[in-house]
Amino acid sequence: AATIRLDSVRKQYDDATVAVADLSLEIPAGELVVLIGPSGCGKSTVLRMINRLIEPTSGRMFLGDEEITSVDPVELRRRIGYVIQHVGLFPHQTVRDNVATVPRLVGWSKQRSRERVLELLETVGLDPARYADRYPHELSGGQRQRVGVARALAADPVVLLMDEPFSAVDPIVRGRLQDEFLRLQQTVRKTIVFVTHDVEEAVRLGDKIVVLSEGGKLEQYGTPAEILAR
Ligand code: ADP
Ligand code: ADP
Repeated sequence: AATIRLDSVRKQYDDATVAVADLSLEIPAGELVVLIGPSGCGKSTVLRMINRLIEPTSGRMFLGDEEITSVDPVELRRRIGYVIQHVGLFPHQTVRDNVATVPRLVGWSKQRSRERVLELLETVGLDPARYADRYPHELSGGQRQRVGVARALAADPVVLLMDEPFSAVDPIVRGRLQDEFLRLQQTVRKTIVFVTHDVEEAVRLGDKIVVLSEGGKLEQYGTPAEILAR
């Protein structure tokens, strides 16, 4: 795991919207930090800058000692796993091939990728014998999110970015996914930035909580107990 550091980061979109005005933030190595705040306050923008889907307008971002903009894009994709609300699995690929996306991209051998996929499906609670050769439309919403988590973990990243990964499933499945995810984090200990708008979820999962307001302004930062006590 590696610490993520944002240093006076600003993002202004082409239409002049300032999504993040001036954000400095440290996500400690091996911790799960939740970003919470009203819709449009810049949470997704922060994640998308960290994995370089978009570039900040100004400011600097670090992964460990390295400046994120200096890391090779393919290597960055290996180091940073990304899970979004509607997972974005490739519809014409099986579960197995979806999970193997990044290992293949970074040149793992077929054999190594294959073994890794089976191990990961077990890890996220999907029996490979039943699910590895299914297509995304043959899975439930909760199962698709599990495949999304498996895919994000595939090449053993140091960081996971999760953008409302459990919001699209019903409350019972969500609770189960949260429980399993907490257990998983206790064993893998990634640095995780987790976006949600659900306070209960934030308190349950977060080692730390960051409360943002419009313009990506940092309102509060602390443990769930500290945030609740305010
Ligand atoms: P959140 O994830 O907290 O809901 P976002 O990061 O998605 O917030 O958006 C922050 C602000 O930036 C919002 O005002 C949104 O409308 C705007 N925004 C997001 N993406 C774009 C874009 N591609 N172009 C212009 N404005 C955008
Ligand atoms: P979409 O947003 O339509 O799903 P993308 O091309 O942004 O399409 O992403 C497809 C999938 O690839 C995402 O759901 C995500 O799981 C994965 N992905 C995208 N960008 C990254 C990244 N920087 N690192 C790791 N995985 C990524």
